[in-house]
Amino acid sequence: MKRLSIIGAGVIGLSTGILAQEKGYAVTLYTADDPLHTTSIKSAASFKPSEVVYNELAHAIIFPSFERFSQIQKTGRSSGVWMHTLWEAFSNTRKKEKYLSVMRDVEVIQYPRVVGGYKHAWKYKTFFIDTSAYIPWLINLFSANGGTIEKLRHPFSTMSQLSKLPSDSIINCTGYGAKKLCRDELIVPIKGQIIVIGKLKQRWSINADGFYIYPRTHDTIVGGTYEWGVENETVEGGATYLIQKGNMRIVPSITKRKILRVYAGIRPYRKRTIRIEKEDIGGKRIIHQYGHGGAGVTLSWGSAEYALSLI
Ligand SMILES: Cc1cc2nc3c(=O)[nH]c(=O)nc-3n(C[C@H](O)[C@H](O)[C@H](O)COP(=O)(O)OP(=O)(O)OC[C@H]3O[C@@H](n4cnc5c(N)ncnc54)[C@H](O)[C@@H]3O)c2cc1C
Repeated sequence: MKRLSIIGAGVIGLSTGILAQEKGYAVTLYTADDPLHTTSIKSAASFKPSEVVYNELAHAIIFPSFERFSQIQKTGRSSGVWMHTLWEAFSNTRKKEKYLSVMRDVEVIQYPRVVGGYKHAWKYKTFFIDTSAYIPWLINLFSANGGTIEKLRHPFSTMSQLSKLPSDSIINCTGYGAKKLCRDELIVPIKGQIIVIGKLKQRWSINADGFYIYPRTHDTIVGGTYEWGVENETVEGGATYLIQKGNMRIVPSITKRKILRVYAGIRPYRKRTIRIEKEDIGGKRIIHQYGHGGAGVTLSWGSAEYALSLI
């Protein structure tokens, strides 16, 4: 059996690991963080690209991703994946984005028919991925397929350490960690803070001028901030206030709702393009697969398929 090492157990490493298992590889994931405490589990997450360079590569990989989420959805609600209606609303008129071609039942709606009184909106069906259920689901599937997850005492600090791993090929899915590991200056952190409140009556989701409300099974995600160049994950009171204010047009009573949790994560944005590329180091094939910004969950399966094609 061919052996494959993957560095990183976020949504990118886990999805790539599972797809590799389906292709007959024995896979070991190496991770600096507990897989239940990565950026990926903090993701909101709607199937919609944002804060990513949406070029030909991203557009090519979004389709297989959508397809795979369609299959996962059929396995039942325990995967944390379901179809939802998403409104993307704006204060200004917008040209249709290319990614809308993957979404279902897309409608363009103008004021005064837009919720919240916004000027322009796209309303469509897409997937919602509740990462609090989905990431454990991926971990279970990967383990049930015979995969091993090794939690490292210290993160890898050089690429030559990777080339010494006991497999012919290695995939680097280190997300924001690649900035240091690969000395990749194209990576820019984009901090995002989210608040979690109780269940709302509303079942549709909305992202309006960047503020968003995503109802989940047991609670509601309310976001968010996009803090370019900010590397820390510290929760800020000012950001919480901004998130509440920004979402008041949709749920006026939002400032009175009890906040259950607040957290922040770093979107691993990469200038120019997501990196899915091969490099040979010390006789080993290393595939880099990182820099998915605010779209890692959305693009995960297509990204995995493309990365594996480079081995
Ligand atoms: C607030 C917020 C909201 C978001 N909303 C959405 C959304 O709605 N839709 C969407 O698609 N995306 C969303 N995202 C983006 C998404 O979360 C990321 O794109 C995705 O999590 C990136 O996954 P990853 O596997 O590359 O990185 P991570 O989840 O960060 O995983 C990286 C892994 O690599 C390991 N690692 C790193 N460096 C090393 C090293 N040197 N040695 C060993 N291991 C290492 C880590 O321990 C970890 O296991 C959101 C992000 C945030 C912060």
